Amino acid sequence: MPTLIPTGRLAPTPSGLLHLGNGRSFLLAWLWARSEGGRIILRVEDIDRPRCKPEFRAQAKEDLQWLGLDWDELTPDQSTRTDIYRAALQRLIEAGLAYPCTCTRKDIEEASSAPHGDEGAIYPGTCRGKWRNAAHARQATGRDPAWRFLWQGDAVKFHDELAGEVSVDPSTLGDFVLWRRDDLPSYQLAVTVDDAAQAVTQVLRGRDLLLSTGRQLALYGALNLQAPTRWAHVPFIQDAHGRRMAKREGDVSIKALRERGVDPRRVAAFLARTAGLAAPETGAWPADLVAGFAVAQISDGDFLLSDEALRSL
Ligand code: GLU
Ligand code: ZN
Repeated sequence: MPTLIPTGRLAPTPSGLLHLGNGRSFLLAWLWARSEGGRIILRVEDIDRPRCKPEFRAQAKEDLQWLGLDWDELTPDQSTRTDIYRAALQRLIEAGLAYPCTCTRKDIEEASSAPHGDEGAIYPGTCRGKWRNAAHARQATGRDPAWRFLWQGDAVKFHDELAGEVSVDPSTLGDFVLWRRDDLPSYQLAVTVDDAAQAVTQVLRGRDLLLSTGRQLALYGALNLQAPTRWAHVPFIQDAHGRRMAKREGDVSIKALRERGVDPRRVAAFLARTAGLAAPETGAWPADLVAGFAVAQISDGDFLLSDEALRSL
């Protein structure tokens, strides 16, 4: 196998304005790739078409540039790659590794005896082996089926740069969705196909996706694709109420800071400091922080963003 050049990615979802928490993950992903002499791709993750908007796509690119983050390649938006994801699904179906599922969210909640973890009820495998194909499932229930990954076998293990050794047991997460009932690819399938197709070697993203890396590694295996070799799942910025920043709550957007006339160098350095990295109070462009960056130095606790800290910008 040819040696791959280190490649990281920035993968915004244009379903809202980027907030400081997103900005921090992108800054860290960028610093990690650049500090390894790597290249960076920008990939717009707009598979959830009903929720994504062109104005947020344009704004995300502007926000990243304003913060001093650049990229070497803009890969095709996920919304343009449906046929490629569909072909991957087809391969899994042919390999007997995907099956139609007609369960509603309510069915799953009622059927799941396992304790409900952070991610909600665990799918108990109700439709495994139940339907011959999608047409059969549709005919019997009158519902369009989703497709789930038949996830069996050993625990998936990987090394996370912050969390250390991680082991993900299929039975603790259950068979996950590959293709949605509304005929859209799932995040898990699209991101796996793309990270492989775009030769991504290192992934840095929010800690909410730590266990999803186990799902994705199972998919790389099933599709016989080359997986990224390095993973880092970083903590969040929480607001003054101890809640994780989210687009839906209208938390401090990068755009709002920009419109207030805040210096982007101050924002970049502030975000680096919230992650435990050294950066001057007076501000710095991301490029000036590359030399001092080490992924292992990222602090592994959530950062509480006080109103005072915010005003200091
Ligand atoms: N598009 C996702 C987000 O904005 C990131 C997914 C990933 O990094 O794998 O949260
Ligand atoms: Zn089902």
